[in-house]
Amino acid sequence: MNVPFLDLRASYLELKDELDEAIARVLDSGWYVLGEEVEAFEIAFADYCGAKHAVGLASGLDALHLGLRAMGIGEGDEVIVPSNAYIATWLGVTQCGAIPVPVEPLPQTHNIDPGRIEAAITPRTRAILALHLYGLPADMEPILEIARRRGLMVMEDAAQAHGARYDDKRIGAHGDVVAWSFYPSKNLGAMGDAGAVTTNDPALAERIRILRNYGSQERYVNRVCGYNSRLDPIQAAVLRVKIPYLDAWNERRAVSASRYAALLSANKTITLPAVPQRCTPAWHLFVIRHPQRGRLQAACAKNGIGTQVHYPIPPHMQEAYGDYGWAPEDFPEARQLASEVMSLPIGPHLSEGAVDHICMTILAELNNP
Ligand SMILES: *Cc1c(COP(=O)(O)O)cnc(C)c1O
Repeated sequence: MNVPFLDLRASYLELKDELDEAIARVLDSGWYVLGEEVEAFEIAFADYCGAKHAVGLASGLDALHLGLRAMGIGEGDEVIVPSNAYIATWLGVTQCGAIPVPVEPLPQTHNIDPGRIEAAITPRTRAILALHLYGLPADMEPILEIARRRGLMVMEDAAQAHGARYDDKRIGAHGDVVAWSFYPSKNLGAMGDAGAVTTNDPALAERIRILRNYGSQERYVNRVCGYNSRLDPIQAAVLRVKIPYLDAWNERRAVSASRYAALLSANKTITLPAVPQRCTPAWHLFVIRHPQRGRLQAACAKNGIGTQVHYPIPPHMQEAYGDYGWAPEDFPEARQLASEVMSLPIGPHLSEGAVDHICMTILAELNNP
């Protein structure tokens, strides 16, 4: 049995007729940058997230970068970031010329530990960046409370959290600006690069709209030095087809996640994902921890199962951030997680039989000393 890590072609084939028609509609319209398709997507996505505004952008990284710029973050400002993160989360900060100040995760949830945030705040701190890693919402209530009390903005990296809920409210407007990626493998995925921000603040939405289009609102009148980061109307049309299916596809992921948890709980050396009471995850990834991850990955590979590691090197240990002077041991929790995590296949087209095959492979390997 062959189980790819993620089958994107199956997602296309399930919606092929609708997707082909949507793409043909854009081609036929003769309108290829911004316009009605992008606006219609922005309305539908804001509505889905329970946010007042959505602004379509070229990528998730741009959503982080332009969102932080719109908040006024720039040279020399400090932004609290999770030490346990994907590099793009930090790149959004450093692209503004701001300094990422890492805060360690709760080892159970892998998300930023709100209890450690205050100690990292300095007079230069301007914002807290909360990441909903693997689709599990970060603990937003204490984060928002600290931000309110200390006069900080809150940016969310929701690139892995489409449809996830915190306190029964969908991720989309807990913080000031929420950054989304629609990279093809995300829960809501385009057929190329795409991103967006959502926010309840009309002034921030307007600033991001201006930044994405050369800093111009009125044609050839430029108020600020902006960027070119517009959501492609073809991708907007694709995404609009997929929004109505997102909850059902997330539910299929949740069914796989429950099955994994039920079967893998037979071996106590495996640490399964924890789900705090107030969180409903989007199950973008199903990440287990094991001290012998390499052995489990090899057994899976031998049995035709694709696995990955999200992420093998934490940002503070990346050569890209060598100039910041962090030592590997500065963030031991992030480093420890990076050495033990392993992502099992999960997606809307993963069969029950495949989950069983994966679990049996892992359990058999661990029972075989
Ligand atoms: C995918 C991802 C991004 C970046 O999105 P792109 O659209 O690839 O630029 C940022 N943060 C996280 C956590 C992601 O998973």
